[in-house]
Amino acid sequence: MTDNAADVRGDSGPGVAQLVASRVLDVPDFPKPGIVFKDLMPLFSDGDVFRQVIDEIIKHHGADSFDVVAGVEARGFILAAAVAYATGKGVVPIRKAGKLPRAVFSCSYALEYGEATLEVHQDAFIAGQRVLVLDDVLATGGTAGAALDLVEQAGGTISGFTVPLELSFLNGRDRLTPRTVHAMLTV
Ligand code: AMP
Repeated sequence: MTDNAADVRGDSGPGVAQLVASRVLDVPDFPKPGIVFKDLMPLFSDGDVFRQVIDEIIKHHGADSFDVVAGVEARGFILAAAVAYATGKGVVPIRKAGKLPRAVFSCSYALEYGEATLEVHQDAFIAGQRVLVLDDVLATGGTAGAALDLVEQAGGTISGFTVPLELSFLNGRDRLTPRTVHAMLTV
């Protein structure tokens, strides 16, 4: 965790960025040597901070700007379910390959540490439904790009995309251009 307020920035301002920074743990060499894993479990497990993060996501986008919330497996589920519940919307899981039981759209992509495929049910969205997409960390942008593409492939319209934490040195935001990224903390 970091306490240095001078270093923190994010799309919701320095106060929110500092809040997130105070609840992120750096785990060196996980899941493999050379990767610094950003663990957001302290943020999720602190009830007051978790609520502030969820409230900020809703405030940033506006509860009327989306019809449904999509979360990217697995940590995106935690954020998506909370935002969906707080706003009375539904939640749609974007899952890793082979987990969803019915007909899916699939998208494969390169990760910071490997390769992966995401899937969404073909009937997950009503045509034109506005979808707020949530994940925990934006790294290279491969995951987010695949998730956003899948939402559109399944007939949804992207209303917004939020992550609590963005690793700016991996340029994920550039890769997602012209889509807008809301990152609460950018490191
Ligand atoms: P990417 O596709 O490279 O943007 O990676 C983003 C996805 O991988 C997110 O779902 C994150 O949960 C996970 N991820 C990638 N790099 C990290 C990291 N350094 N720390 C924690 N999670 C990461």
